[in-house]
Amino acid sequence: MGRLSLFLVEGKTLRRKIVSVALLSVSLLAFAGAAGAQYHGGPVIISAKVVNIFWGPTFSNPASPDYTYAQSLVAFRNQFGTSREYNVITQYYQVVGGVRQFVQLSNLSTGTADWFDTSTPPTNVTDTAVRSKIQAYLATHPFNNSTIYQVFLPSTSYSSNGSSTSCGGPGLAYCEYRAVFTSGASTVKYTVQPYASCGACQVSSSWTPAQNQEHLVSHSTRETVVNPLGNAWYDSTTGIDFSDKCVWSPAPFLDGLYGYAYEWSLATSSCVKW
Ligand SMILES: [Zn+2]
Repeated sequence: MGRLSLFLVEGKTLRRKIVSVALLSVSLLAFAGAAGAQYHGGPVIISAKVVNIFWGPTFSNPASPDYTYAQSLVAFRNQFGTSREYNVITQYYQVVGGVRQFVQLSNLSTGTADWFDTSTPPTNVTDTAVRSKIQAYLATHPFNNSTIYQVFLPSTSYSSNGSSTSCGGPGLAYCEYRAVFTSGASTVKYTVQPYASCGACQVSSSWTPAQNQEHLVSHSTRETVVNPLGNAWYDSTTGIDFSDKCVWSPAPFLDGLYGYAYEWSLATSSCVKW
């Protein structure tokens, strides 16, 4: 059974049922994996980069808690690609010309500059609005095919897709999501990271807001790297990403300063820390 959508969402309350909220990119994809197959022939991101887009004035205001939040997430990104947690996904590969090319550890911060956008986002940030924001960024920065564009929202806004929303909205259905859109010849890979302001999207109230977000970011980044277009690594039986088995269980953990989700190991067929 092939997956129908690249629009993937995570929520603690929905963790046993990864819901496809909208069919954003079906036409891009052909699903031909045999039942039980794991690798379906598509690309991974061999040497990834992550660009953070912080949308809202508070992220740039040292008097706001959002300033520290954003700085923490930048620091998390700067070390994540060479961490032992990221190393788990170096098991994953693409096959080009019959040759396996494995995901590499990489400094995720080597892409174009992060954007601290001091414009105020709407309370309800639609996916269309997110795409427009990324397009605005790409109007002044060269597109990179190995980059994941990651859009953060402040707690005063929520993300929506139809009647489904993130924390703070009227129809809580997900914590974050990832998707793609095409722009000219480019396929832009992105994730939307609404502020994890509700218990359903937080690991623990004793974690900092940044750590609760890092948990979600660690998951969605690795998931995007190993299955960016939805046709590389996923479970044919269920149609979901392997990473999704590990988002909330075992319990997310702290390693040093940062929060993480477990990740699916092909070697052990289980969720592992590293
Ligand atoms: Zn996921």
